[in-house]
Amino acid sequence: MAQTPDVVIVGGGIIGLSIAWYLAREGVTVRVLERDRLGSHASSAAAGMLAPLAESDEITPLFRFGKASLDLYPTFVEQLAFDSEMDVLLEGPGLLRLAFNGKEADLLRALVQTPAGQELETKWLDESEVRDIQSGLAEKVCGAAYSPREQDVDPKRLIQALIKACQKQNVSFVEGIHAEQHAMVPSESSKTIYAAGAWTGELLASLDYQLPVKPVKGQVVLLQQPTKELRFTLYGLGGYLVPRENGNVLVGATSEDAGFDERATDEGTEQLLTKATHLYPAADQFTFIEAWASVRPGTSDDLPILGRLTGVENAFVATGHYRNGILQAPITAKLMAELIITDKDPEALAPFSAARFTQAGVV
Ligand SMILES: Cc1cc2nc3c(=O)[nH]c(=O)nc-3n(C[C@H](O)[C@H](O)[C@H](O)COP(=O)(O)OP(=O)(O)OC[C@H]3O[C@@H](n4cnc5c(N)ncnc54)[C@H](O)[C@@H]3O)c2cc1C
Repeated sequence: MAQTPDVVIVGGGIIGLSIAWYLAREGVTVRVLERDRLGSHASSAAAGMLAPLAESDEITPLFRFGKASLDLYPTFVEQLAFDSEMDVLLEGPGLLRLAFNGKEADLLRALVQTPAGQELETKWLDESEVRDIQSGLAEKVCGAAYSPREQDVDPKRLIQALIKACQKQNVSFVEGIHAEQHAMVPSESSKTIYAAGAWTGELLASLDYQLPVKPVKGQVVLLQQPTKELRFTLYGLGGYLVPRENGNVLVGATSEDAGFDERATDEGTEQLLTKATHLYPAADQFTFIEAWASVRPGTSDDLPILGRLTGVENAFVATGHYRNGILQAPITAKLMAELIITDKDPEALAPFSAARFTQAGVV
């Protein structure tokens, strides 16, 4: 292998690749070690919604983090398009959180009034207003909270663009390498960032470092609508439909405790197809294309783990993005790159430090 890079990143999902790209643009030499193929796990399986309000209607550190990342997205995709010479777009007119009864309508009316709802410029639409902008909604829909800023991206395309952009910035990739067996311990001359998604806990355990990262399986179904009638991302009844520019519609997602199993099942597919028709009745006419599954990197407190690995020289971690790794990639990359380059801990990472577990004696 060529000369020792300044930084080795273990894991080539959206998180590892985004950090690699940000660092390389600042002149840092980076090598990404990927066990399989770059982007072949959670990052390609995701629906690609950029929806900070899905996690919290209060201004929590997680909301702030997600909102800051959403704010970075337009520049992120623009620079990515430049470096990769690919079109990478923020898609869609936004997200409709549908109310199916009076109680849900009250909750969603309240949501748009919360500080978080206001920050995202959400607004309440009554039944006729929502039907005016989106036809074909279920009979029971009696209104919606409209969130124009919560758009989406195509994660598979984003990954391809990140790979190209990294190559342009001379990031080196090693695929098919199990990091436990090679070059995984940080050295004096090289910093290591562990960004191995749901596998980060296992990986670090082999270094005798315990972090509570656990896999949360998610299945998704891809359909094709004959016309492009469904324009908005629809959210409700514990699921969502995400229409893409090309007429495909993603239906998500299950949430399962199934270890590292990444297989789509008939049962999961049935469950999602039923949900799709409840959310949008015409979905039963859509053509089935495929189903897939992967594992989200969950943590014991549902917050990401970002920053130094306390007690291990030159070692850093970026994982635990759970349901929001696509949304949170730009801010994660920006702040992790800042930490590596300046050796100063950005304040915005404090709520997500690995030290919260070691200090609290959680693990
Ligand atoms: C069904 C589903 C829907 C989702 N929808 C959304 C959404 O709409 N919006 C959103 O923001 N997020 C969504 N997510 C979450 C998002 O996909 C994840 O948070 C994000 O992809 C995590 O990225 P990652 O790079 O940490 O992990 P991954 O993409 O899993 O990448 C980790 C990489 O590390 C590699 N690796 C593991 N162990 C080793 C090792 N020992 N050595 C070397 N490499 C190793 C793996 O092979 C893998 O490629 C969804 C997830 C799922 C499953």
